[in-house]
This record gives sequence, C-alpha cells and structure tokens, in this order.
Amino acid sequence: MTDAPKWRSDIERCAMCGKCRSVCPVFQETGDEALVARGRIRLARALAEDEEASGRLAYALKSCIRCMKCQDQCPSGVAYREIISGARREMAEKRGVALPVRIALRHIVTRPRVFRAGLMTARLFQKLLPAGRGGNLRHLPLFLKSPSWVPEVAPRSAVELLRDIEKPKSPRMRVGLFTGCLINHIYPEMATAAARVLKRMSVEVVAPPEQVCCGTPAVSFGEVEGLKRVAGRNAEVFSSLHVDAVITPCATCGSTLKHEYEDILGRKDWAGSPIMDAMEFICREGRDLLESLDGDETDSVRLTYHDPCHMIYGQGLSAEPRAVLKRCGELVEMSGKGNCCGGGGTFEVFFPELSGKITARKVAAISATGAMTVATACPGCALHINSALAAAGMPCRSRHAIELLDEALERMERKEPAASPKADTDANKTVRTLR
Ligand code: SF4
Ligand code: SF4
Repeated sequence: MTDAPKWRSDIERCAMCGKCRSVCPVFQETGDEALVARGRIRLARALAEDEEASGRLAYALKSCIRCMKCQDQCPSGVAYREIISGARREMAEKRGVALPVRIALRHIVTRPRVFRAGLMTARLFQKLLPAGRGGNLRHLPLFLKSPSWVPEVAPRSAVELLRDIEKPKSPRMRVGLFTGCLINHIYPEMATAAARVLKRMSVEVVAPPEQVCCGTPAVSFGEVEGLKRVAGRNAEVFSSLHVDAVITPCATCGSTLKHEYEDILGRKDWAGSPIMDAMEFICREGRDLLESLDGDETDSVRLTYHDPCHMIYGQGLSAEPRAVLKRCGELVEMSGKGNCCGGGGTFEVFFPELSGKITARKVAAISATGAMTVATACPGCALHINSALAAAGMPCRSRHAIELLDEALERMERKEPAASPKADTDANKTVRTLR
C-alpha cells in the first residue's frame, strides 16, 4: 500500500456525526448514505483494511465531486481531501486504471507538443461537425460522454499568445503563469487578460511552454504515476524560473498544485516561489490598481459570482474574487452561492444525470439574480455553466473574473462607460452548446 498510514490516520478523526450530509451536493440528490463523506470514509477504511474494491465501493468513491464542502464544514477537522485522494489511489492499485486513460495521463498530457498536436487534430474534426452543434466537438475522446459541449480548440495556445504581450518597462516583480490545459488550449483569452492586468501592476509574466497538465485528472483516477510525472515536470520547469510567485487563473489547477503536489513532492512551493491564485495575487499586490477603478465605468454592469469549489473550499478564497468584482460592476449574490455547479471535471462525464440535477439548481439560482454575466474563477466552471445556460435557453454567459477586470481597466483607460452585455449574440457565439 503506497500511502495508507497518512490517510488511515485521517480516517480515524471522523466522529461519524453526519454533519456532512447537510452540505454534500451528491447526498442532497441521492439521499444515499454511501454517497456522502461519512459513508465514503467507512468504505475507505474497509479498503485500507484490505477489502476488495467492489463495483459498489468504486462507484461510491468515484461519485464524489471532490468539492470539499464537507471538509470545510466538518466539526472534527477531518482531512477528507487526503482520504478521498488516498482511497482512489488505493482503488486504482487494486482495480487498475484503463489502459487508454493510463496512456493519456502518463504519456500524452506530459508531452506538451504531442498533446497540442492531438488537440489541433481534434480541432480539424470540430470543423466537420454539423452546424446545429455550433461546429464543436466535445474535447478529448474521454469527454465524448460529457453532457457539456465545449468551445473550439483555440487556434493559438495561451503560451503562444503570451509571447506577443509586451513586458512592463521596469517590472517590480516577476511571476510564472501556470495556465492549465483548459485555459491554454480552449480559453487562452483568460491568460492574456491576466497578463495584461499584471502588466498594469508592473509585474512581468513568464509562461514557460514546457509546463504540462496540473494533474487533476490523474488525481481523479488515482493514477499515481501520471501525477508524479506531471508534478515532477512542472516543479522542474517553474523552479528553474526563480520567480517571485507562480500564479494561476484556474481554481482547480491552483488547488491541485497547492495540495496534491505536497502529497507527492512533499513541499508546497517551487524553489521558494509560492503558488497563488490570480485573484489572491491581485488582491495582495494590486491594491492600487483596484482602487484606481472608481466605479463610474462599471456601475451599469450587473454581475453575479459563482464560487468554484476548488477556490472557496479548495483554497479558502471567496473574499478575493469578490473584492475584484466589486470594482468591475454591481455584484449581486446568488442564492446557495457556495454550491457546486455540478461540473467537477470527470464527474460530469461519468455521472451525467447527477451532474445535471446539481447544475439545474445552479442555473435557477443564476437566473433569479437577473445578471447577464456570471463571473467565476475557474475555466472548468465557466465551460460547464455556459453549456448549461445555453441548454436552458438563457442569454447570460459565464466569464472569468480576470477578463472582467481587464475590460473594466481598459474602459477606465479609454474613459468609456460600461456597455450592458447583449442579450444573446456574444453568449451564443462562444458558449457553443449543448445536450
Ligand atoms: S466527515 Fe466530518 S462531518 Fe462528516 S461524519 Fe465525519 S466528522 Fe462528521
Ligand atoms: S467532497 Fe463534495 S461530493 Fe464529495 S463527499 Fe464531500 S461534499 Fe460530498
């Protein structure tokens, strides 16, 4: 057993009080005791005590979204993330991981050029799809099962586009930008927006093209070797930069880099460079920039904010994106603001029905705000929410908070008032739907 002692001792902290039942989105939809932290911890204990990894046990462990709301609310401070990650590794060891998944996680996402070439091939096929689908293929072969439709693979990746962004003349800091796969290949505009905002803060951005996937899919599958490979590669690439910080605009990547790598590499930073979310960094280092937005340019824009689970529970960041967004428009909170959107990466692929039920609650909460823009801090949430909004025939659109900040700053520089987002065109152009 690779790491049983650590997560085994975490298991013993669970008092079996059942408080997690009141917050778990999966339990809320199923009412199944096996599908909540308490039940999964019981199963994890059985697994650690050498029980066979039965189909039922595997289902229970795989159907956790890893939203970490239970961990956030647990009165006993149970380290649930470590338990579920450890149990999945144990399960992968006992049941094995499908060969195509192992190949993808060990040999494709670890090679930036091979991965990009595969995606560019997928892009060609996207063009062949019927117009009714908006000309979009569903991401990678694995995601053909996903209920979400995804935008076109970007013709130029974020790391390519970032080469064209001018550096500040006398930078006061230098940071490494970890883009993550979704931003790098699907939403590069989120990375370029981040680079422009950082430039205004006199921060130089370096986005090494050798960076690879953060490893979240490997964590989901319990694929230790795949996670070790990406963690080792990213640590090597970013450590060699000797930057003041490594920042990422992706909440899921940030949570994985901060926590899962520690389990694998045994340290929290890369050569002394702390890992930070982009919102966290901007709130710490960009106060003057935020204060320069006096609100005249933004008051007419009504926004709501979706907390990505990996941001609010994974990294404890909820005030920071709100501090940024309050400078970008009128922020209206949605009901159940800390609730999962139902995406969860592989969760929506393997549990589309459950995912759909959780998402329906989120869509209703968004709709009740009357906002035309749903800000978030995770490209995965933006993709999933946009797909769901379009499926529901709603005109609003989800965007990353960093894009909204970049646009608000640009308006201020041009002294232009904010324009209300149009009811449909922009949304329908890039949302690219649906079920
Ligand atoms: S995980 Fe925490 S909240 Fe859930 S049963 Fe155990 S002690 Fe209670
Ligand atoms: S991580 Fe989320 S889905 Fe998993 S048991 Fe905890 S609350 Fe439920």
